[in-house]
Amino acid sequence: MGAPGSGKGTEAKLLSERLNIPHISTGDILRRAMAEGQELGKTVRRYVEEGGLVPDEVMIEVIGVRIREDDCRRGFILDGFPRSLAQAESLQRTLNETNSALNLVVNLEASSQILIERLSGRRVCRRCQAVFHIKNLPPKKEGVCDHCGGKLYQRRDDKEEIVRRRIELYKVEAEKLLSYYRGERLLEAVNSEKGPQETLGEILVNLGAKV
Ligand code: AMP
Repeated sequence: MGAPGSGKGTEAKLLSERLNIPHISTGDILRRAMAEGQELGKTVRRYVEEGGLVPDEVMIEVIGVRIREDDCRRGFILDGFPRSLAQAESLQRTLNETNSALNLVVNLEASSQILIERLSGRRVCRRCQAVFHIKNLPPKKEGVCDHCGGKLYQRRDDKEEIVRRRIELYKVEAEKLLSYYRGERLLEAVNSEKGPQETLGEILVNLGAKV
C-alpha cells in the first residue's frame, strides 16, 4: 500500500524480480484493457482518467480471476489492490479458497511534496510500461524507452491537479484498510523517501521477519 507516487510499482517490480513471483498491478491491468479496447477498458475509463476509484465489484472480479492463474501458485505481489474494505474482504475469501494467505502488507510512506514531484515528472512507456522520471530517472533519449524503444507518455492522471485529488482520496481510503491490516498484525510501515534499493532492502527485512 502507499499513496500514488510512494513507489508501489517500482518496489513491486523489484520484489517480483528478486522473489521470482508475479507482480499484479491493478492499474496496469486496467490501463492495458483501455489501450486494447477491451470491454473492461470501456467500463473503467472514466474512473481511471478522472483519478476516481473503479467500483469494487469490477475490481474484485478482475483480481479473483488473476490470482487463480497458475503462475500465482508460488505467491504474488499485489500493487494497487485492495483499495477498500470490501476489496480486502473479498481478497481474504479468495485466499481462503485457494489455501493461501497474506504474509505481509507494506505501507510505503513519503511526504505529499515528494509524491507530487515524483508523479508530475513520471513518464511511462506506451509499449512495455517501463517507468522513467524526467529528473530522477531520465531515459537516455528524451521521450524514448531505454528498454524497448517505445514512446514515453505522461499518464493523464499524473497531471498535477489530478495527482492532488488522488493523494487526498488515498488518505481517506487508506485509513480503514491500514487499521484492518494493523489489526491482523500484517502491516509494516516503510519510509520510501530514500532510493528504490534502500526501500527494497527494508521491505525484504520485514518480509524475512514474517515468513
Ligand atoms: P494505480 O496505477 O494503482 O495508481 O491505479 C490507477 C487507477 O486505476 C486508479 O486511480 C483507479 O482509478 C484505478 N484502480 C486501480 N486499482 C484499483 C482498485 N483496487 N480499486 C479501484 N480502482 C482502482
